[in-house]
Amino acid sequence: MNDRHPVQCIIPPYIAERLAQSADPRIRARAVANLSRAAAFRAVRSFSQQLPSLMVTTAPEKKKHRLVYDSRSTDQLPGTLARSEGGKSIKDPAVNEAYDGAGATYDFYEQLFERNSLDDRGMTLVSSVHVAEPDYGGSFVSMDNAFWNGEQMAYGDGDGVLFHRFTLSLDVIGHELTHGVTSFTSNLTYSGQSGALNEHFSDVFGILVRQWKNGESARTADWTVGRGVLVPAKTRRAIRDLENPGTAFTDDPDLGTDPQPGHLKDLYLGNSDNGGVHINSGIPNRAFVLAAKALGGNAWEAAGRIWYRTLLQLSSSSQFQDCAAMTLQIAATLGAAEKKAVKAAWRSVGLTV
Ligand SMILES: [Zn+2]
Repeated sequence: MNDRHPVQCIIPPYIAERLAQSADPRIRARAVANLSRAAAFRAVRSFSQQLPSLMVTTAPEKKKHRLVYDSRSTDQLPGTLARSEGGKSIKDPAVNEAYDGAGATYDFYEQLFERNSLDDRGMTLVSSVHVAEPDYGGSFVSMDNAFWNGEQMAYGDGDGVLFHRFTLSLDVIGHELTHGVTSFTSNLTYSGQSGALNEHFSDVFGILVRQWKNGESARTADWTVGRGVLVPAKTRRAIRDLENPGTAFTDDPDLGTDPQPGHLKDLYLGNSDNGGVHINSGIPNRAFVLAAKALGGNAWEAAGRIWYRTLLQLSSSSQFQDCAAMTLQIAATLGAAEKKAVKAAWRSVGLTV
């Protein structure tokens, strides 16, 4: 998973490993297929590199261009074209959700930050829905995941027991597409602290796309990721919680307990999950929420602007301390209140800047 373009999934490997031991065979089958998928999709990618024009086209004008494909419950990417830019909605809700979610994400970046698509050059937003994975019996199972593979989005239909289809959550769509923005800007290396920052920016902007679209203010907003794709239960609320890392699920029979720390003293130092990219992101995530709430108003305004400019300024090897220092430097250019809020937020999670 340390390729130049790693497959970046919303469901981290430590959850898939646990689901592979689920008592429910529907969940178990998908998790086993999921864990064997990374290598398979790398093969798809190396094939697609030979045919770049089929996978990514660049629109010359400053307007959004979306293509949504149907993988028809196979692992074929992109699959069969189901809806293209300007086309009417069709009967399949997954196609329409992928189309609308990509559109909302494009509009968010364009209207707030004058960014023309992921690459700022009008890149076509390619999505595939009904993506499945081969099982060991020679057939396919629907995917319990969504991912960005460096070129396009892919969404699974879930198992119906633990996960719904992954297009149901706008923050999941915004999260995955932001991996594209990151790859064209700071290009944070997907391991260790730089990888946790890569996940952090996807969580932040994924949530901000949803808050912006729904008009949620910082103080009243829902700060969870993936609530809409999870079948609710007492033991689980979401995939991650930015405001209170480590509380999205607790003693869940399938998911276990959310491992995210919310303070640098609890930094995960192990090797799994590419050195904890989906785990340690809890630390900067909490700093962002604290800064946004201290600043008030809408999180995509002051806090979102500071974090977006930071994403453009960081390098591929940036660590938490670099990110904290950059947000503070940018906040200071906006005013004393911004500087104070950002400094206090980082201090609360153990980073002194
Ligand atoms: Zn991600």
